[in-house]
Amino acid sequence: MELYKKSAAELSDMLRKKECSAVEIAQSVFSRIEEVENKVDSYLTLCKNEALEKAKLVDKAFADGKELHPLAGIPIGIKDNISTKGIKTTCASKMLENYVPPFNATVVEKINSADMVITGKLNMDEFAMGSSTENSYFKLTKNPHDLERVPGGSSGGSAAAVAAGEAIVSLGSDTGGSIRQPSAFCGVVGLKPTYGSVSRYGLVAFASSLDQIGPLGRTVKDVAMLQSLICGYDRMDATSKEIGSPDFAKELKSNLSGLKIGIPKEYFGDGIDSGVKQSVMNAIKEMEKAGAAVKEISLPSTSYALNSYYIISSAEASSNLARFDGVKYGYRTPEYENLIDMYEKTRSEGFGDEVKRRIMLGTFVLSSGYYDAYYKKAKLLQKKISGEFSAAFENVDIIATPTVPSTAFKIGENIGDPIKMYTADICTVTINIAGLPAISVPCGFENNLPVGMQLIGNKFEEQTLLNAAFGYEQLVGGFKCLPEIV
Ligand code: GLN
Repeated sequence: MELYKKSAAELSDMLRKKECSAVEIAQSVFSRIEEVENKVDSYLTLCKNEALEKAKLVDKAFADGKELHPLAGIPIGIKDNISTKGIKTTCASKMLENYVPPFNATVVEKINSADMVITGKLNMDEFAMGSSTENSYFKLTKNPHDLERVPGGSSGGSAAAVAAGEAIVSLGSDTGGSIRQPSAFCGVVGLKPTYGSVSRYGLVAFASSLDQIGPLGRTVKDVAMLQSLICGYDRMDATSKEIGSPDFAKELKSNLSGLKIGIPKEYFGDGIDSGVKQSVMNAIKEMEKAGAAVKEISLPSTSYALNSYYIISSAEASSNLARFDGVKYGYRTPEYENLIDMYEKTRSEGFGDEVKRRIMLGTFVLSSGYYDAYYKKAKLLQKKISGEFSAAFENVDIIATPTVPSTAFKIGENIGDPIKMYTADICTVTINIAGLPAISVPCGFENNLPVGMQLIGNKFEEQTLLNAAFGYEQLVGGFKCLPEIV
């Protein structure tokens, strides 16, 4: 039995019916990793021994009649910017090549206490800056649907591993699209939760006011199960909110009748591939046939979102990344003449080009004389964009758009053109700017490459969002997430 092909929900059932063991599940996932990892390259660190040990403990607990969390025994891969005690956390950077955190992120604590089985740490763009995972210092991850193409980014390893059957579910982080965009490119489901609903404690900060950790899986239910586990208030994160302990998976409802879906015309204009547009429109039509009420809306400031995002995120990054100075963490240049020389060499050698570009941009927009012209304006735009979403949600329950303007591009195609690379986020950054939740679900194929539909919800309305995604998934009879890897 190829257990790696099953969803977390199916495996959870099978474990309880004693149709398989946690060790068998872990073995199946690791033999899949042995089979395809040399082609896909989604992992930076594998934790096979620890995973098998954990799976054994889960089996023992089941045998002892203990009641375990629904996700107990389910293999999960973790993006390499989420701190794991005793396991390297590199952020795909030379700067943190040998960094082993002395503590767990809150989400990892939750994963451990639910007895999930951590398979390893997943590749990403360096410090989560990028849209293709090509900015990793260590390796290139390939799209399991076409090995000549990128998996998207920055959580490219998290999406590729789930699509390739190298993990059942995974965690990513999303500052401007980094969960949703690779989910769309790899044909999996990815949720960016409302800002404040998942603790960021232990997530290596890129842009603290925009970063969110979120789940990826092959079904909406799996994503709902994992979101229920990781969400909730954490006193270690001052921006985390008290939201109780929702069980999103238990409350899933597939009935789309009466759901009001807004279609913002700005997300279907020039620059969006016609095939992508068509697939998303077809998906919306399906939902309409099932009883949803579709109406056109307008979010007029959308065209400013990318500028606003790159200014705010780079400003915060320049400040957050100041801590990597060769003193406190990670890499230090081997030869230097004095303290300033040590700082300069450490940072020049330790960071890659994209990270340096963001630090320079961020420092510039915060500098005296430019602060008002750039940073302040970007923050004003952020208010305007958020206000437009709030107004839209007075009339609709969810908003549907493409997740990305195109399907996965070829490796190397955009790497020399940062602006072109940044436009891959044009449909996703607004959501982080406004602090909203959004999910990407597969909605068809264009030239054999997956297309993603983005559904956006109002703040803390994850259940409405997951229900809509679930309703669509049920309509189309599930998603074809596992490609043949050739
Ligand atoms: N691609 C975007 C960027 O490079 C988003 C990254 C992210 O969400 N972490 O900033």
